[in-house]
Amino acid sequence: MAFEGLADRLQNTIQRIKGKGKVTEQDVKEMTREVRLALLEADVNFKVVKDFVARVKERAIGQEVMESLTPGQQVIKVVKEELTALMGGEQSKIAVADRPPTIIMMVGLQGAGKTTTTGKLANLLRKKYNRNPMLVAADVYRPAAINQLETLGKQLSMPVFSLGTDRDPVDIANQAIEKAKADHNDYVIIDTAGRLHVDGDLMQELKQIKTDVAPDEIFLVVDAMTGQDAVNVAESFNEQLELTGVILTKLDGDTRGGAALSIKAVTEKPIKFAGMGEKLDELEVFHPERMASRILGMGDVLSLIEKAQDNIDEKRAKELEEKMRSASFTFDDFLEQMSQVRNMGPLEDLLGMLPGANKMKGLKNVQFDEKQISHVEAIIQSMTKKERQDPSVMNASRKKRIAKGSGRTVSEVNRLLKQFDEMKKMMKQMTNMQKGKKGKKGKG
Ligand code: GDP
Repeated sequence: MAFEGLADRLQNTIQRIKGKGKVTEQDVKEMTREVRLALLEADVNFKVVKDFVARVKERAIGQEVMESLTPGQQVIKVVKEELTALMGGEQSKIAVADRPPTIIMMVGLQGAGKTTTTGKLANLLRKKYNRNPMLVAADVYRPAAINQLETLGKQLSMPVFSLGTDRDPVDIANQAIEKAKADHNDYVIIDTAGRLHVDGDLMQELKQIKTDVAPDEIFLVVDAMTGQDAVNVAESFNEQLELTGVILTKLDGDTRGGAALSIKAVTEKPIKFAGMGEKLDELEVFHPERMASRILGMGDVLSLIEKAQDNIDEKRAKELEEKMRSASFTFDDFLEQMSQVRNMGPLEDLLGMLPGANKMKGLKNVQFDEKQISHVEAIIQSMTKKERQDPSVMNASRKKRIAKGSGRTVSEVNRLLKQFDEMKKMMKQMTNMQKGKKGKKGKG
């Protein structure tokens, strides 16, 4: 998980100061020393670390903390606020042109995820903001890049404008914008060429496109896994092009966090979105405050709720709940519920959004084993329709057949049947208890 090392260290540090009724300068010194080490180890730019620590120290030994009734908690509040500020403070918005289309230019080095992110951004604009984007293939050096964008366009059922590889990218961009106006596409997202390294010719070409089409946004796509390199790349692109924002990809990997925590401070350009996986719906609006909260183990319940709202069909969820209460819940329902939760992403990530999850030592060892869940799914999928509806028909030969079909053992099948039975019993008890309570209230 991203930020894991940093999160662990920071949480240990703040845990020690949290409950203190009195915080001395010595306490603050010790804490800031630990914070400094944690940030350096997470590959945060050293100058950024220095300024950050100085700010935290100044505030932590200042009045707001020393004179408060809960100084330990005040110190943590300071750390959280400064972390949030470091990542850009307020969540930043995406531009909307006075007269459509709004033009977004995507720039970045090869392999950072620029083309994929172009598709993801278009998808997000449509899904979250109800927009109708057009994609533009302006990387004329790599036919593969054009094909890739066209494939993404097909997957998304979205128009992709391309003129092949022997036209000038500025021409392509201009014609695309005319076409977008005619077709009423309100966003035009231009996928420009990348190179392996920052290079003069590339910058020249990008500047030319910028001058000619006057984009409303210039987003740099950088790979979070590359740490300080990502920060250097951002600095170079920003000097040449005056970016309007950064999109950080591969935050789903185990990046230490250096790029996310340094880019805003170094370039003064906000991180607007974060790539959280390879799939087209795995791009998220970047919320500095929520990210700071996650790093400090305070959870990110807001994002969790949003994920649930995006992935769980509320009406179906109510129906399933009703079935659970009335004990008519079947293995098919169970399967459906598991898949809804799974749509929200890896369980480990979801747990990371709960406050204090990092601190629950037990949870770390439990390791919500995705494999285990696949096994359960395989077992249920090997049951016949009748067995799923009514497990009481289960006998030895049926269990053997299911075990064989799912590649699991009979004792695993037995365990699942038992768990399912216990779950139903428990639901029944809870429902009865609730009924009992209601009944009493009604009479009283
Ligand atoms: P480009 O050369 O910059 O256009 O890069 P591509 O869009 O071709 O992406 C390079 C690789 O990174 C592809 O395999 C993508 O699937 C992958 N990728 C892009 N964004 C993400 C992300 O947020 N998370 C993960 N895990 N992979 C990503």
